[in-house]
Amino acid sequence: MSRPADALQRLRRVHEEAVLDNLRTSGALSRAELMARTGLSRTTLFAIISDMIEQGAIVETRGPEAGPRGRGRPAAQVRLNPEAGQLIGLELARQQVRVAVANVSHQIVATDAMDLPRDGDLDAQAEIAVSLVRRVVRERGVRLSALEAIGLGIVGVVDDPDVPLGLVPARYSPIAARLEREFGVRVAVDNNARLAALAERTWGAARSVDNVVYVRWSVGVGGGYILGGRLVRGAHGAAGELGHVSLDPDGPPCHCGGRGCLEGRIGGPALLDACAARGVALPGLAELVTAAQDRVPEVCQVISAAAGDLGRVLADTVVQLDPERVVLGGELSVLGSLVLDPVRGAVASLSLPNSPRRIDVVPGDLGSSASALGAIALMLHEEPVIAEHLRPTVG
Ligand SMILES: [Zn+2]
Repeated sequence: MSRPADALQRLRRVHEEAVLDNLRTSGALSRAELMARTGLSRTTLFAIISDMIEQGAIVETRGPEAGPRGRGRPAAQVRLNPEAGQLIGLELARQQVRVAVANVSHQIVATDAMDLPRDGDLDAQAEIAVSLVRRVVRERGVRLSALEAIGLGIVGVVDDPDVPLGLVPARYSPIAARLEREFGVRVAVDNNARLAALAERTWGAARSVDNVVYVRWSVGVGGGYILGGRLVRGAHGAAGELGHVSLDPDGPPCHCGGRGCLEGRIGGPALLDACAARGVALPGLAELVTAAQDRVPEVCQVISAAAGDLGRVLADTVVQLDPERVVLGGELSVLGSLVLDPVRGAVASLSLPNSPRRIDVVPGDLGSSASALGAIALMLHEEPVIAEHLRPTVG
């Protein structure tokens, strides 16, 4: 039988874990926010925080200015000790590998990117990923003395019947093995659009929003849902594949096996084809975005019509999921009202227009680093094995 003192100690430990968990998933929080989230009394919480600051597990910082227009005293916040661990996020996109480095207190230390060769195999991609990390460490003076884990975002459905979601599917195990060999930490993998959704929720346009539909509009069209504050993966890792919603069952075949998919109609190659058919030949997506910014009429018409198609699919999604916010990321999202207005119009007119609710449609904040940052967020939020390992020792 355990003594009452043991029981008290165990209870204290549970309270400490609750504080650490909240800081790990949310970054910096004020004492009032921690009280609301943990349900601990003021006395208990303040005593735990003082002890953990003394032990070096957490540190105190000044938050953003309180009050309207930054007036008032900045609120004191606490966060995990940034020295307690670093995380690397990588994204293997179609044409680039991108990296982000952050610490366990949610501070983004560096981001960078390198082009991938057009026909490089996975081994070549792994070498480029390794040299990109080495470059960011060298050029930005990043110390990886407490590197804990690497997250990797990839294109496509992360599904392997032999491997649990979030762990490495066989196809990517050579890259994961190379990274593990180089940096001596384990690697977790997830879909890049799903990870971008998680990053926007952690650092960006959907910060602290619990119900979010994220869509990434680029060469391909992907998406991710945050529901009840959690990233939704689905039974097979394919939740949020908005690009493969069919607009026309008799339409052209898609690489997913379906027909008439949204991606086939509004993905980068489809937009370039539509512009070429109107007499404006463009070599790639970057040039298409520039032409739209220069208000080339044919290009604007193509993109506006495509945004209308995207809006109709998103309106369906909004009817089904009832989010607070729709976040539009990817290269096309920089075009502002040209892409946002048709989406806003479709959501407003087709998603239960008579029901009194407010659904914001906003551009993503994190640009091309979103998925690499999401690979870090994965390890802060969603990867229980790694998250366990990340906890600073308190006691
Ligand atoms: Zn498809």
